[in-house]
Amino acid sequence: MDKVRNIINHDNHDERHHGSIPVPVYQTSLFSFGSIEEYLGNDEKSDFTYSRGNNPTVRELEIKLAALEHAEAAKCFAAGMGAMSASIVSVLKAGDHVVCIDQGYGGTQSLFTTILPRYNVETTFVDGSVQSFIDATRPNTRLFYFESPTSLFMTVLDIKGIVAYAKQHNILTMIDNTWATPLYQNPLDLGVDIVVHSVSKYISGHSDNVAGVAMGSKAIIHGMQNEYMNFGAQMSPQSAALALRGLRTLPIRLPAHAASAYKVADYLHNSPYVSRVNYPGHPKSEDYELAKETMTGYTGLLSYEIKGLTFEQIKKFVNALNYFRIGCSWGGYDSLVLAFEMNKHKNDTEKTILVRMSIGLEDVDTLIEDIDQAFKKAAE
Ligand SMILES: *Cc1c(COP(=O)(O)O)cnc(C)c1O
Repeated sequence: MDKVRNIINHDNHDERHHGSIPVPVYQTSLFSFGSIEEYLGNDEKSDFTYSRGNNPTVRELEIKLAALEHAEAAKCFAAGMGAMSASIVSVLKAGDHVVCIDQGYGGTQSLFTTILPRYNVETTFVDGSVQSFIDATRPNTRLFYFESPTSLFMTVLDIKGIVAYAKQHNILTMIDNTWATPLYQNPLDLGVDIVVHSVSKYISGHSDNVAGVAMGSKAIIHGMQNEYMNFGAQMSPQSAALALRGLRTLPIRLPAHAASAYKVADYLHNSPYVSRVNYPGHPKSEDYELAKETMTGYTGLLSYEIKGLTFEQIKKFVNALNYFRIGCSWGGYDSLVLAFEMNKHKNDTEKTILVRMSIGLEDVDTLIEDIDQAFKKAAE
């Protein structure tokens, strides 16, 4: 952890920045050259030429995130979805087949179901067990795409098992590692080929930024250069500065989020209205042992399944909460809540009532009291 803190918080003195402690926001669209010869000799892919390609503030974030994720290279995007779309498209061609978890983030699921089929890329959605990936594999399967933990049911996958099978069959693996952050899970060390993150969540951490990153070997990241340059979803220097600012306190914020989420999970495990708590950091969680194999810590996003209350009552519960703001996204200091009535897996016949909470940095006893009073109101 100490090494991580140094990566995050120590920058060498750099004369180019006049001793500025953070790398300044290089708010410039282009970079001029001393002579036309220098301009003609520049490489837009690696040099500072135009900010759609490279920018010093964004570069600083890429260097830090790559170091944290044990990646050779990182490319930052305007949103998590920018990173995911560019990464996915860069490794696929017409005729390829993808296997993807059926609990994944809505944006990526939509890419697989609405856009890629037009380019003759087919996707099979699976429940996430190793066997489900094996069963769905075809001779033309090129990519396994997954998240672990997932961000609705917090399902933990057997990453090592999935990777072992993929490697035997020359299939690329890509993981959305947003839940765990690069602090608590490093999938490249487990053999995963590409790691993508929404930097809008814990890394930025203050609900004030939309950003993303893709990381992997130099060959993989340089291989998506055309997608990066031509889709135009580059990260702005302002956004990079916000992400760098958030990153500084990530090792301090995450343990605080996790400690509170643990207490909330503990309370929920004893609630008569809860049939299942989805928080891999709690020993009573079904995924606890598996999570421990690949994760060194936990964050603050959890969910729980409801028994004995209708969805109408759960709406009342959500509206009765005073300390949880109602909204999508997660990973900020302010606690958030959402509720759904949905299928846990694609083929389920019964819908599950799910409450998802992003546990913020408020006093946790207040949060638990708030949940308690809202349950009582809902059950009236
Ligand atoms: C938010 C999120 C995304 C999308 O990221 P954006 O930054 O909103 O584009 C992808 N995956 C997960 C798990 C997320 O939570």
